[in-house]
Amino acid sequence: MKIAITGGKGGTGKSTIATALAVELGKRYNILLVDMDADCPNDHLILNINRKLIHNVEQRIPEVNLGKCIKCGACGTACKTNAIVSIKGSNPIFMPSQCNGCGACTIKCPVNAIGWNKKEIGYIYSGENYGVSLLSGELKVNESLSEMVVNNMKKAIEEKKKNYDFIICDTAAGTHCDVISALEDCDFVFAVTEPTPLGAHDLELILRLLNKLKIPTNIILNIADIGNKKIIEDISKKYKAKIIAELAYDKKILEAYSKGLPIKNQEINKLADYVAGMVPR
Ligand code: SF4
Ligand code: SF4
Repeated sequence: MKIAITGGKGGTGKSTIATALAVELGKRYNILLVDMDADCPNDHLILNINRKLIHNVEQRIPEVNLGKCIKCGACGTACKTNAIVSIKGSNPIFMPSQCNGCGACTIKCPVNAIGWNKKEIGYIYSGENYGVSLLSGELKVNESLSEMVVNNMKKAIEEKKKNYDFIICDTAAGTHCDVISALEDCDFVFAVTEPTPLGAHDLELILRLLNKLKIPTNIILNIADIGNKKIIEDISKKYKAKIIAELAYDKKILEAYSKGLPIKNQEINKLADYVAGMVPR
């Protein structure tokens, strides 16, 4: 069964909760934790895991054969990300950092002068500690296609999933392509938030997305005793997403976090029992 910890807003404690839940469930089940926050992975730091590289993530990029090019300028007009500057009568100029590998330029070229090459854009690591197996994706510095790293992690999950009872995906913040890709084939989602106007705003965005994806969702309310809980309760009713756990502000959680240790908390234990009782869709 594949579940995701997400939440819209950054800094609400998604990774802290995902790692704690994985460790608690790991006492009873085989757990694969997947850190899908490719821009800023940190589950390995919380679980004190020395990651090992298992493979590189590559993106296809076009390569112009200037010997065949007739300098027509068509590839430049086809490229919506301005990765090719191509003026009629001049050789096209290619900027790999702007390219998303869509292939429009290769289709548009009238003389098949554009072939394919590859560039490295990220890495996938694995590791293990506290009875939890970890997959962790990381985007290379100065690259932008984090969803491509997430898509590669999903392939790695497919190869490994038969060995695990639960796969827990810890997504990035926000509602962008990388988060959508991480969520789209999950059986169940927990949206972590905090009782603040920012938390409420971003929770509503992620619940709207999850409604569209038709994935059942519960809410985990972090630092539940600080701020205005009612704004989250109103959103919970509006989207029929139950508040399943409430973690109060606790200095011990911050101390564990600052030492790179998974947190221990009664609400996490209850959450693990709830997950253990789930039946796959
Ligand atoms: S593959 Fe797509 S993004 Fe890259 S240069 Fe060609 S048209 Fe532009
Ligand atoms: S579309 Fe093909 S032929 Fe035309 S400028 Fe681009 S690479 Fe050259």
